Amino acid sequence: MKEYLKKLPAEIQDLINLISKAASLRKWPVYLVGGFVRDLILGKDNCDLDIVVEGEAEVFAADLAAKLGGRYVRHHQFGTATVYKGHFKIDLATARREIYAQPASLPLVEFGTLQEDLKRRDFTINAMAISICQNNFGELKDFYQGRKDLKAKKIRVLHDLSFIDDPTRILRSIRFEQRFGFKLEPHTLKLLKAARLKGMLEITQPQRLREELILMFKEKQPLKQVKRLNQLAGLGFLNHKLKLTAKNKNLLKSVSQQIGWFNKVFPKRRKLDEWLIYLLAFLDCLDMNSTNEFCRKFVFRRGDEKRIFSAKNDIVNSAQGLSKPKVAPAKIFKTLEPLSYEVIILAKAKYRNRHLQKYIADFLEIYNGMRIYASGSDLRNLGLSPGPDYQKIFAEVLEAKLNGAVKTHEQEMELIKKMIRRDSHGQD
Ligand code: ATP
Repeated sequence: MKEYLKKLPAEIQDLINLISKAASLRKWPVYLVGGFVRDLILGKDNCDLDIVVEGEAEVFAADLAAKLGGRYVRHHQFGTATVYKGHFKIDLATARREIYAQPASLPLVEFGTLQEDLKRRDFTINAMAISICQNNFGELKDFYQGRKDLKAKKIRVLHDLSFIDDPTRILRSIRFEQRFGFKLEPHTLKLLKAARLKGMLEITQPQRLREELILMFKEKQPLKQVKRLNQLAGLGFLNHKLKLTAKNKNLLKSVSQQIGWFNKVFPKRRKLDEWLIYLLAFLDCLDMNSTNEFCRKFVFRRGDEKRIFSAKNDIVNSAQGLSKPKVAPAKIFKTLEPLSYEVIILAKAKYRNRHLQKYIADFLEIYNGMRIYASGSDLRNLGLSPGPDYQKIFAEVLEAKLNGAVKTHEQEMELIKKMIRRDSHGQD
């Protein structure tokens, strides 16, 4: 594998050499493993180094972070650690063996050899290692014929109980199959179907399924992923009302186009949580009760859940209000400003009304981020003491600005003076 390693960018080669030397000081055998090795052989870029050490991963992480001037996080529960340096992420684990005391639950883990560590992995293509020990640097450790399967474009589990031990592998197998354009090898497919029939996904911890679902939506072509998931596992384990209809598929396609549009037109804006927009589209067929049920079961992060409900509650009214001609810019602003970009992009994908399309584009291009020149010190100079009136005045000036009634700082100040006169007359 030396020739493969030599093709890596110099930065990664340096990193690998440094890891190799640090491990040799501790006399611990060390290996590149998992997705990094798979992607290296496939010739795909991967900045996430996956390392197994026959030694103490947490201690090794501290060594590396000190040498690299990076930072590290220990995951005590699993005896693993992650080192971060620039855009590189190095996941470190002590070689382990696993015992599944109960199907579909997290395994008991104890220290083991590299071979045992590879044996507990999901698929043969993810179960290869490359030694970066000083004495056999670059040697491929391929106990389960991963390289052969990679060449034959096959996803194969390592043993017959794999999907029973860990049913999240059902989702993972689909994800890798669709990502690489591979095929589930026939026996693996049979095992997957058997695990599905046994209801293994129904007894898997929802948080683990949620993480895999999110990863599916983070793939380049989520629609392909979801279609295959529907075909092989159905969607009932997520929610019995979830269906993949022609309407859903079209919405997912449209989301993909709208994300493309946003990224092209606004390259400098906050990066979209693209996976979430796909999820919102995926959940579009659910009514409020089922959405509640889904969120209660899978417990998304607070911000994500907020956007899931906003997509249900706010978007219909907003779309209705903006699906007609001649809506004033201030109204467009007021309608769209409280919504997140993710929900706005979903609305743009879902409602094809041409007015709405234009208003959303105008909002994102012009109104969103529009600021007024007038400031607190301007108001103080006019003799107004700070208080709730400030916000009211600023809101009214912004509204006038959005509607094109004022443009310059001077015009804003004129308007403010008029407002003050108006209000003081009102009080007389
Ligand atoms: P990606 O390219 O999506 O990051 P990856 O292969 O790096 O894929 P990770 O989820 O980062 O996947 O996991 C790293 C490695 O850990 C995998 O390559 C696999 O060997 C192993 N692994 C991860 N999840 C499981 C699992 N559920 N069962 C067995 N092994 C797993």
